[in-house]
Amino acid sequence: MAQWFAAKEKHPDALLFFRMGDFYELFFADAEAAASVLDIVLSHRGEHGGTPIPMCGVPYHAAESYLARLIRRGFRVAIVEQMEDPKARTGKQPIRREVIRVITPGTITEETLLEAGRPNLLMAIAWDKDLLGAAWVDVSTGLFETASLPATDLQALLGRLEPAEILAPPTVEVGDWSTRRSPEPVASPPLIARRRLADAFGTASLDAFGTFTDGEAVAAAMAVDYVRSTQSGALPRLGHPEPQGQAGVLSMDAATRGNLEIHRSRDGGTQYTLLSAVQRTVTAAGARLLSGWLSAPLTDHAAIIARQDGWSWCLANPDATKKLRGILRGTPDMARALGRLSLNRGSPRDLGAIRDGLKAAFAVAGILQPPLPSALAGVRSKIPDDTTLAQELEAALADPAPARLEDGGVIRSGFDGELDAHRALRDESRQVIATLQLDYAQRYGVASLKIKHHAQLGYVIEAPAVAVEKLRAFPALTLRQGMANGARFTEAQLSELDQRIREAAEQAAARERTVFNHLVRKIVDQSDSLAVCAEALAFLDVIQSAAGLAEGGRWVRPVLTDAEDFHIEAGRHPVVESALSGQAAFVPNNCDLSADRRVMLLTGPNMAGKSTFLRQNALFVVLAQAGLPLPADAAILGIVDRLFSRVGAADDLARGRSTFMVEMTETAAILHQAGPKSLVVVDEIGRGTSTLDGLAIAWAVLEALHSATRCRTIFATHFHELAELADRLPRLRPHTMRVKEWKGSVVFLHEVAEGAAGRSWGIHVAELAGVPAPVVRRAASLMAAMEKRSGPLATSTSLRSLPLFAAATMPDDTASENDALSRLRDALDEINPDAMTPKQALEAIYLLKALV
Ligand code: ADP
Repeated sequence: MAQWFAAKEKHPDALLFFRMGDFYELFFADAEAAASVLDIVLSHRGEHGGTPIPMCGVPYHAAESYLARLIRRGFRVAIVEQMEDPKARTGKQPIRREVIRVITPGTITEETLLEAGRPNLLMAIAWDKDLLGAAWVDVSTGLFETASLPATDLQALLGRLEPAEILAPPTVEVGDWSTRRSPEPVASPPLIARRRLADAFGTASLDAFGTFTDGEAVAAAMAVDYVRSTQSGALPRLGHPEPQGQAGVLSMDAATRGNLEIHRSRDGGTQYTLLSAVQRTVTAAGARLLSGWLSAPLTDHAAIIARQDGWSWCLANPDATKKLRGILRGTPDMARALGRLSLNRGSPRDLGAIRDGLKAAFAVAGILQPPLPSALAGVRSKIPDDTTLAQELEAALADPAPARLEDGGVIRSGFDGELDAHRALRDESRQVIATLQLDYAQRYGVASLKIKHHAQLGYVIEAPAVAVEKLRAFPALTLRQGMANGARFTEAQLSELDQRIREAAEQAAARERTVFNHLVRKIVDQSDSLAVCAEALAFLDVIQSAAGLAEGGRWVRPVLTDAEDFHIEAGRHPVVESALSGQAAFVPNNCDLSADRRVMLLTGPNMAGKSTFLRQNALFVVLAQAGLPLPADAAILGIVDRLFSRVGAADDLARGRSTFMVEMTETAAILHQAGPKSLVVVDEIGRGTSTLDGLAIAWAVLEALHSATRCRTIFATHFHELAELADRLPRLRPHTMRVKEWKGSVVFLHEVAEGAAGRSWGIHVAELAGVPAPVVRRAASLMAAMEKRSGPLATSTSLRSLPLFAAATMPDDTASENDALSRLRDALDEINPDAMTPKQALEAIYLLKALV
């Protein structure tokens, strides 16, 4: 218990997995927490301060699956190992135990704890005057990047990277990510941080890797120190830190990401997502990279084109592509194997992964022959020319490699003379034993005796009960153990052979470990070039995946421009389309947001397909700028700097904000951040408040987007009245979802057409949804009555009947400003001050004010 308390004091916020023989035991509150999460029995052992100590345990050999569940639930686990062989111990003092590792969500390397297709990032954040420095590492693959950013961009970065664990001082607000925070990190001053990083990477100065702000350096050092502390001082292989800068990446805030269901759908699943709709990768590393491309689409024209050229080459070279796919399909996860090997936690399978990965890489290099587009030439150049390591692994390692070194048979015979000699000795003795059984049977006259191997006793002669008396009479035989149905004996020759086998086996195992460690060291020595090679294969996998999408001819290569173009022909929503397949055909739609018509106002009833259309066009930006093909007949797309998507806000009850508050907060974010190169798709702004309020807000926002922000916009609304604004906003184009009435019910055609919706179909939708017939009939008659009376807001007859309409629209640009001036002049002309009553004069002032 003293050992336990000592370890707990050093790691108060981790569960202690305390090794006792074949079990990891947990005590006190740790035991209670683990028992309930793992659904295992909570028992008691001994007493502490007069009360029994709660305890539970998991078997040592099955620990990983229990660990996985704890880590997924956000626990940290400290592994306390026995540091001495209990058998070799003399005296009565307890075995020495030490914390050999702390397992935290951001620092895991085990295959069973990691999600194969997703990066697993640890992120550190530090203040740097008014800015933040961020550094993120993936311990499992060695990725290490940094960025400097204003605090307002942090949510977007977190949304993009989805770190598994965050280290940040309490003054850094991480919003929804607070559950992933770890205990407060220790930040070093910038100079010391730089020194420490340079030391960690064995260079004189950090400048060798690029320019880092103080914040980035402090955060990076924080991450490195933390990783080191969780691995008890050992540092895994990490790539050089690479400063990223936020430039070059399409900016999307957390709301937009969630809304577009890029990696996860609204319900948290991964099935109906953009990623799942476009994923044709065949390796785990490729899946991770594709996921990264979708998280961070590019804004650099040349970089996007390079990716496009990559998969266009595949389309033009189908035979080569087919071969590449075949090779990649069997390629193991080299990056993660390398991560484990560098921490001395690698298994023979990890060695096998490097061997097979290299073999695949050489085969790939053989197929990628010039002329190649730059991206694929890059892949080719990252594959090493030197085959020495691969050949050595090939010669040394059994195929397939066993899972555990302890199981033996890892190193092939013929590779190491000494190992072969030990094995030969062991095997020869075994053969001698095999002949002994017959010999003994004859010598002692017991035909039924057998030679067996026993875990504790080694090789023994086993005889049935009837023969025991007879055998005991021979002085050469020693009785070792009586059993219910017989007994076990030893004999001098057998004992000697047993001893020899045991020694030879031990020596073989020791030698095998030596050879294994030698191979691991060779790999770790070349880990940088191996990591680069693994990245190249992952890149190639994503490229072939993109080509796979385009192969059927239903996905196209978009033309990217640096102007504000947006022109989609027959676009389809990739996720809705694949979900529909089989039932009904997806109706493709065009979308043209050229400069003279860059604001599309979309009206139409619920269920007509508005949000599907909005989202699909936003998704096209993500796909196109990730360098991937689009589900459309043709597309021309001006590169977007910031993408905003607000479709169907949900109540954020957890944070105590109403739908309307959420909607307005998000609207504010758009109006503050969007610019002329942005794309904004919004749905139903102003829905969460009274009709008049809502219409006024929607109107004002639409005007601001049209005339002040001047971004490409698709604005869906159920306020049909807004369509009349087209007269006043020159670049606004009203569109509507086509709907047909058929035998008294409504049929949605899912087709976007120019024009305004004639009427609302709310009552039909209510009927469709199963609202009881009498209620539907009553609503229809109320509606008819209201239409007859034609009150100002009862129906959508005319915007002009609204009091709001008396107000002028927002000035658009110089042209419309001149417009406003001339209207003002007209109004002034009509005024004859001499003929006015004081009341009329006052009204005139109001009118003039409204015109400005
Ligand atoms: P709204 O936003 O107008 O309420 P949605 O976009 O949610 O409508 O679409 C409602 C349903 O109509 C979708 O779930 C989908 O099944 C179907 N749908 C939408 N767009 C199309 C389309 N272009 N082709 C075929 N079906 C569509």
